Amino acid sequence: QNNTNTTIVNVDDINRKITAKKCMEIARLAYDSGRTRSLKFRKTQLKNLERMYAETQEEMVEALRKDLKKPRQESYMSEIDIVQNDLRNLLFNFDKYTKPEYPNRDQTQLFDTPMIYKEPYGVVLIIGAWNYPFLVTVLPIAGAIAAGNCIIIKPSEIAPASAQYICRNLPKYLDKECYQVYSGGVAETSDLLKEKFDYIFFTGSTSIGKIIQSAAAKNLTPTTLELGGKCPVYIDETVNMELTTKRIIWGKCLNLGQTCVGPDYILCSEKTQDEFVSWTKRILGEFYGDNLKNSPDLARIATNRHFNRLISLLNNCNIALGGQVHPNERFISPTIVTNVKLTDPIMQDEIFGPILPIITIKSKEEAVSVINSKEKPLALYVFSNNSTTVDYILNATSSGGVIVNDVVVHVTCDNLPFGGVGDSGIGVYHGRKSFDTFTHRKSVLKRNFCPVSEMLYRLRYPPYSDRKTRI
Ligand code: NAD
Repeated sequence: QNNTNTTIVNVDDINRKITAKKCMEIARLAYDSGRTRSLKFRKTQLKNLERMYAETQEEMVEALRKDLKKPRQESYMSEIDIVQNDLRNLLFNFDKYTKPEYPNRDQTQLFDTPMIYKEPYGVVLIIGAWNYPFLVTVLPIAGAIAAGNCIIIKPSEIAPASAQYICRNLPKYLDKECYQVYSGGVAETSDLLKEKFDYIFFTGSTSIGKIIQSAAAKNLTPTTLELGGKCPVYIDETVNMELTTKRIIWGKCLNLGQTCVGPDYILCSEKTQDEFVSWTKRILGEFYGDNLKNSPDLARIATNRHFNRLISLLNNCNIALGGQVHPNERFISPTIVTNVKLTDPIMQDEIFGPILPIITIKSKEEAVSVINSKEKPLALYVFSNNSTTVDYILNATSSGGVIVNDVVVHVTCDNLPFGGVGDSGIGVYHGRKSFDTFTHRKSVLKRNFCPVSEMLYRLRYPPYSDRKTRI
């Protein structure tokens, strides 16, 4: 297994010997051939993707085990089931999503047919991240196929086994020219970004998101940026503390904290903090047994760089629970940090690991002021049984999404558009929104040559007159 962030999937293994430019030429020709315009073709490709998921699940589980030691059940819950559900939804609603829409006529359109025609953008670039390497790569692929685009896919080099799976299997199941995989790292992504795409869909960090956005701006290419950030958790004193702790700890330990919507830090009273720490002790034991490192249900940190970054965050911290580190396995036990100040290093950037700082606050107003002092998060979690408190926080803050009394699970709701706001991203997908994201909604107005309608239309022609203006 490779530990650095510069590892490139062995291109010879997957027979990729072409340049980004050549890849683009092939995709352009494929798009111009018009085959992705055919609804039947798109449906077949989606069904093939479904078949790939059905036939190669074990390969995916194995790749995720190699890259992240991701537990089997987590692989199913967060990488396989969500994508299969989304594919089912896209196929089930395919005719509804793809057919033109007919808005109501206004009074100037009595003889016209106004319509919204669903047009693919063309050739789209999908750049994936490593933490959920199938979810964040295949989910947008499904939306882009349904919408009729050709795609160049760049999986993350930091999850090499998963990237190899994608390189190996996508061409077996999908049209090889319309949907190409271009693997590699920063250099390869930079080469791709020199090409003029019709849409770019990026999942990754906010800092790289800015690089992608400025490369896209050179060609006025529209983008979706699915980014990260610090997702806050607010807990008041009206909650069931056992269940609250259980849900937060589950969400925090998922993929060993390497989850874009994972709880990043907690805001609560001192009393709640004490209860949370003592419940966490019990719940970690229930979930993972006495020896956390030996539990098959905890993943590993993906790279040495991330492992060292996380360890350095623990310097000079007050560790209330956990804090054991095992460099050989890149394992850090779930760790709670208390006495945290907003100016501490741990409160500056997304933690992206199993470390959970708690900041004590005295009121919901103070919690809101902490949340609003940071960039807009991808998700905000409010634990309260008081609807006035919940409404207050919903109104006073801005975030990509919110869950009341749970964490993370909104990602699985295909009726809820998923995405960030501000620094946590631009645009949404999942469910119907995956189709909409990759679709240009072309406004079309159909007119006829009927003499009766011409009576209405002719008023616009010169010579102009006061009488015509008044009508
Ligand atoms: P990253 O930004 O380092 O990398 C993402 C992709 O960008 C990779 O494919 C990589 O090859 C490419 N890349 C990296 N550096 C580049 C450069 N200088 N120029 C061009 N391309 C470059 O992100 P990551 O470490 O893979 O993923 C973790 C981040 O992704 C976290 O911030 C997490 O919150 C976020 N994330 C967000 C979502 C979401 O749905 N919003 C999902 C998963 C992860």
